[in-house]
Amino acid sequence: MNPFAYDRPADIDGALQAIAGQTAPRFIAGGTNLLDLMKEGVQRAPHLVDINRLPLDGIEETPDGGLLLGALARNADTAYHPLVEQRYPLLSAAILAGASPQLRNMASNGGNLLQRTRCWYFYDVATPCNKRTPGSGCSAITGITRQHAILGTSEHCIATHPSDMCVALAALEAVVHVQSVRGKREIPFAGFHRLPGDRPDIDTTLAADELITGIALPDAQRFVRHSAYLKLRERLSYAFALVSVAAALDIAEDGTIAGARIALGGVAHKPWRMPEAEQLLVGAQPGNGVFGQVADALLHGAIGRGANDFKLPLARNAIVRALTVASQGTVTNQGKAQ
Ligand SMILES: Cc1cc2nc3c(=O)[nH]c(=O)nc-3n(C[C@H](O)[C@H](O)[C@H](O)COP(=O)(O)OP(=O)(O)OC[C@H]3O[C@@H](n4cnc5c(N)ncnc54)[C@H](O)[C@@H]3O)c2cc1C
Ligand code: SF4
Repeated sequence: MNPFAYDRPADIDGALQAIAGQTAPRFIAGGTNLLDLMKEGVQRAPHLVDINRLPLDGIEETPDGGLLLGALARNADTAYHPLVEQRYPLLSAAILAGASPQLRNMASNGGNLLQRTRCWYFYDVATPCNKRTPGSGCSAITGITRQHAILGTSEHCIATHPSDMCVALAALEAVVHVQSVRGKREIPFAGFHRLPGDRPDIDTTLAADELITGIALPDAQRFVRHSAYLKLRERLSYAFALVSVAAALDIAEDGTIAGARIALGGVAHKPWRMPEAEQLLVGAQPGNGVFGQVADALLHGAIGRGANDFKLPLARNAIVRALTVASQGTVTNQGKAQ
């Protein structure tokens, strides 16, 4: 039993004051990841600040035609919100591909961004792991690598980021709104999660005392009719992605591609995007040839480590498949997007 202090403030200022100046402070939202980590002894939290009473569970329209998703809006409420379904079917599909209905009812949007890797050595406190205990070594590099990264790895860590929601948010160029006693700031999604480098214990650019208050989605109307989220995993539900692809195309009247966004999950320490690769699609007619070229560009430099070698062809095929499905028209919870 590890004792911890517990606060349950009613407003944002109270939460920020409760966390400021603490050693190893921790907010808790749905608790679906943090409590498991605490119970397994992977993460210590001597002081928990429960944020569930904060008024951050709304989903609101923004003046630029986008949406602001509250950090405490639950994953299920977000995926089934009419405005999310209409304007961001890619996000809705990605969220619904994750976890289980019970978990999605509990999991918050802010917590989803900060969920930790599913590398099994990270959870096994009997094994060395640089992410859990900096400097102790990486058991995965010489161990079982089936679920591990093929892009952006370092000699210190080859873990993947497990979220589905974040893959869609990367493609949609979301912006994370955060606040601390020092003030507010906005973090573009591409700069929110980190590659492991020599500090795999640090997953994001968020400071320990910063609260995520919301996630802003810019207008993405031009991608509504042609998007797809493809998730490949060991079984059809309740499993993390081996490889996933969020693909969104803007297809002009003449059938050529006017813009494209592609993000990959299950292959790196963060959702993987490469805008230069997306540019290869601009002006092209949709088709396997150009989709394959984009896949090769996106996977440039990818390396397998034995048990995860299969991810290289799997990712290539998944990218081509997701782009093909997107080009044929978005399938939403209500059928085809108009
Ligand atoms: C069995 C199982 C299967 C799963 N399968 C999938 C899957 O297939 N795909 C997928 O994407 N996810 C999956 N998940 C993960 C799930 O989506 C996450 O656990 C969930 O999104 C975390 O949200 P939470 O509110 O419960 O976070 P918590 O557990 O409360 O917190 C997680 C972390 O976020 C921090 N935090 C939370 N909110 C804030 C905030 N507003 N500001 C700052 N810090 C904050 C906490 O301090 C903690 O460090 C699965 C989880 C389980 C248990
Ligand atoms: S891959 Fe990363 S999380 Fe997994 S054992 Fe190595 S250092 Fe730890």
